[in-house]
Amino acid sequence: MKQLVCIVCPNGCTLNIDDSGDEIKVTGGKCKKGSDFAVAELTCPKRTICTTVKTVFKNAPVLPVRVSSDIPKDRIFDVMNEINKITVKDKLKRGDVVIQDVLGLGADVIATSDILSLIT
Ligand code: SF4
Repeated sequence: MKQLVCIVCPNGCTLNIDDSGDEIKVTGGKCKKGSDFAVAELTCPKRTICTTVKTVFKNAPVLPVRVSSDIPKDRIFDVMNEINKITVKDKLKRGDVVIQDVLGLGADVIATSDILSLIT
């Protein structure tokens, strides 16, 4: 029996996971999302990334970004390396793509702030 804390919502349910048989059995969560999370964690764990990229603008030297969908947990450092190579030179707006299909993972890195479009 394994235990995980569900991170899907602030309730943080403790999930009890029995993967000794043919199928993974999950108990302890208050909803099905916890079971789905536990199965994904055991088979193909994914995470989101929220971070910043450098810009050329002195008044806003960094731009908040995130990935448009969850990426495999074991590729987080690879994606962070790609993000750290970028210096934004355009006044991007929230939702604009900073890196398209980063590392072929099917997720874009997108701006999450309008700060660059507001500076003069
Ligand atoms: S099992 Fe459901 S209620 Fe509990 S933390 Fe996960 S998403 Fe929230």
